[in-house]
Amino acid sequence: MSSNPATYTPTRSALRLLHASLAILRASAVQGLAVVPWGIVVRLQDACDDNTVPPGTSTSTIARPLLGSVPYGGPGIYDCTVPGTIAITYDDGPYIYTDHVLDVLKSYNAKATFFITGNNNGKGEIDNTANPWATTIKRAYADGHQIASHTWTHPFLSSLTSAQRKQQMYSNEMALRNILGFFPTYMRPPYSDCTPASGCEADMKALGYHITYFDVDTVDYNNDSPTLIQNAKNNFAKGIAAGSSSTADYLVIGHDIHYQTVYNLTAYMLDTLLAKGYKPVTVGECLGDPQANWYRSAPVDLQPATAAQAAKPGSAHAHNLCLDGQSNPCSIFLASLYVQDDEPSSNDIYELGEAVDNHC
Ligand SMILES: [Zn+2]
Repeated sequence: MSSNPATYTPTRSALRLLHASLAILRASAVQGLAVVPWGIVVRLQDACDDNTVPPGTSTSTIARPLLGSVPYGGPGIYDCTVPGTIAITYDDGPYIYTDHVLDVLKSYNAKATFFITGNNNGKGEIDNTANPWATTIKRAYADGHQIASHTWTHPFLSSLTSAQRKQQMYSNEMALRNILGFFPTYMRPPYSDCTPASGCEADMKALGYHITYFDVDTVDYNNDSPTLIQNAKNNFAKGIAAGSSSTADYLVIGHDIHYQTVYNLTAYMLDTLLAKGYKPVTVGECLGDPQANWYRSAPVDLQPATAAQAAKPGSAHAHNLCLDGQSNPCSIFLASLYVQDDEPSSNDIYELGEAVDNHC
């Protein structure tokens, strides 16, 4: 999802309010939302999700031949190539609405692409069997949708070192490998941020990824209310207005982490594109790329556990306090909270006004 990367420096008075907010959080020892008396809503979000490497051996040694004719790395893909196709894509999931969007897509016999983030918004790791996400991902694949990568924890990729950037991709690969037995060759950079100067474009090519952008932005993430969602519908309708289904094609971005996208916008997009004679397909299909090129098989090998996992229990863990509605990493953070385990407690250390490096 798009977001303003600017950081926010709390004022002294804001910090005082924050101290009190944190005291309430500490007193309740409940991880999640805290509504403090003066109306600030904060959300505890894990800022070090990427320290948790999924179980099993790393995918880093798996061969990555550049199959097919769709470009790898470089400036990326904005445009489908098969006339009459529209590829609807969903970023940032799976989330609690994803199963419903699968129901909607099935009712239209429509295919879509899911750019999956492995561990964002405090939802927990996608391959952790305590979470429902693996079941949803398996269903999306079984329903004929394309599974693609949107990184492990949704960072700004150009801000990372090359090693950190690659680990973002490897971790998501490992988690998807643990769920599906393979990982994707298509990825979308969070915030559309993957510059050539940072080395990101070259890294994605080295890892065998198609960098997948879009040419129709619904801006659904800014319009997630019953009234505002009309703006996203208008963005879609305008985005596909110029072409005809005999010659045009479109690559559309939405987010299955938003209620209105799933329960309202999706059916509108499908009704609209079908009425104009388009076929709703996966990204791979809209690019004419055979399905064999969409994934790399990887053996599921859950032993041995990684050193990072073994070190996790009891280790210091950092969280950001985000304004409610901000995704992780949040562009406006209120404070950082260091906890000694995954539950806030009176032993925890709060560092106010200092952004947690999301890749600590
Ligand atoms: Zn995103």
